[in-house]
Amino acid sequence: MQELSHYIGGERCQGQSGRFGEAFNPASGAACARVPLASADEVGHAVAVARRAYPGWAETSPLKRARVMFRFKALLEDNQQRLAELISSEHGKLVSDALGEVQRGLEVVEFACGIPQLLKGEFTEQVGGGIDSHSLRQPLGVVAGVTPFNFPAMVPLWMFPLAIASGNCFILKPSERNPSASLLLAELLAEAGLPAGVFNVVHGDKEAVDALLTHPDVAAISFVGSTPIARYIYETGARHGKRVQALGGAKNHMVVLPDADLDNAVEALIGAAYGSAGERCMAISVALAVGEIGDALVARLAERAAALKIGQGDDAGAEMGPLISAAHRAKVRAYVDQGVAEGARLLVDGRDYAHPGQPQGYFFGPCLFDHVEPQMTIYREEIFGPVLAVVRVPDFARAIELINAHPYANGVSLFTASGAAAREFSHRIQVGMVGINVPIPVPMAFHSFGGWKASLFGDHHMHGAEGVRFYTRMKTVTSRWPERLAAEFAMPTMK
Ligand code: NAD
Repeated sequence: MQELSHYIGGERCQGQSGRFGEAFNPASGAACARVPLASADEVGHAVAVARRAYPGWAETSPLKRARVMFRFKALLEDNQQRLAELISSEHGKLVSDALGEVQRGLEVVEFACGIPQLLKGEFTEQVGGGIDSHSLRQPLGVVAGVTPFNFPAMVPLWMFPLAIASGNCFILKPSERNPSASLLLAELLAEAGLPAGVFNVVHGDKEAVDALLTHPDVAAISFVGSTPIARYIYETGARHGKRVQALGGAKNHMVVLPDADLDNAVEALIGAAYGSAGERCMAISVALAVGEIGDALVARLAERAAALKIGQGDDAGAEMGPLISAAHRAKVRAYVDQGVAEGARLLVDGRDYAHPGQPQGYFFGPCLFDHVEPQMTIYREEIFGPVLAVVRVPDFARAIELINAHPYANGVSLFTASGAAAREFSHRIQVGMVGINVPIPVPMAFHSFGGWKASLFGDHHMHGAEGVRFYTRMKTVTSRWPERLAAEFAMPTMK
């Protein structure tokens, strides 16, 4: 089995802690890599290396930093297929889906190529007699990213291109469940001309994350993962004086109004609920069927879900792959069992699905529940698997009320033919990312990504203008060039 290494100061370094995790191929269930789990000392070494690289990189002009990003973008394009296959082998998602993930990450690199423009400050002439004022943004120093298993390339790419282009040095602590993509990204950055020490990868678990959260030389932490850990990261990082953005879990609803195009709504729901086996923070896990559309919608969903094609990542005909691990599959199964026990109607039951060619793989068939009620566990909690819950609601107002009462508020979608309903929904819904006839409204790289409530802790969303703001701090300079100064003893004001 392959033994992976950390990537610090421009080179691969063997783990020193003596602790290892294992990464598995979810399609076969076979262990594929030993992952070193860093100690606090190893994290400290990576921070020290990044700290040494920081002054030179921060002084490098934004134009030159952008040129590294341009070269990195070209290398990512050349290596898209390789990266997608690597992701699929450790995550289980289809290669076609992984290619989409790489593309969405690449778009953040494209955005970061515009960093000279993005970092431009503000200038006001003559704020007082002979006095001008300008505001500028400067990097923070060493910043870190802690990322989840479900997007091993895209989520790190939401973070480090803008962090680095803004002049920071970065330490990535990727998910220990699929760590290889981050090492390939590190090598492509080096090939693009990024100086050693500016981007580093440290593998690990809670020990490594805690070391980053408490290290005095780490200025900011970006986190994406589950809500309990996001809350912990936010609280611990803030207590140690860091800027923190911590994105958490989700329970995304799609409202289907009676005037919606039924074919479109069904196709959108099937793709958004079961794509990537439901292991997406923007997956739709609840369909709110409004009024009389319920019966027809459920009948069509059941037919379509039961016929979904399940396969390994490289199976070109497959529509979804396995789950990430045996433990996660057991957790998803327990949720489905609980849904049945609490009285929801399980119309499509994928619990006993086994892949004919890969009996040891972590496959789980699609599940569809009807008549789910808001007090049920499967409605309240994030399942993160191929399980869609249909809740019947009498009208649009009740749909909005339910969504706004839910603790998670990452994404939401409305399918309708009515512009007035769409406008009302966008205005009143308390969720960070809204789709109108778009099931998975993931904002483009030049907008920002982030949920509300228990789906995000912190003040900044990721990438776009918010990303630049997160990774820089503002300084405002007020200046004059007087011929002669007289001492002033009162608080200075603009005369
Ligand atoms: P996770 O919270 O288990 O792990 C995320 C990261 O935190 C990993 O790097 C992990 O090593 C680290 N970690 C785990 N336990 C920790 C602990 N006790 N202390 C410190 N660090 C710890 O999440 P996951 O299972 O890898 O990813 C799935 C979750 O991520 C889902 O809840 C999903 O909704 C969420 N997610 C959210 C978004 C978003 O944008 N809001 C995007 C992708 C995934």
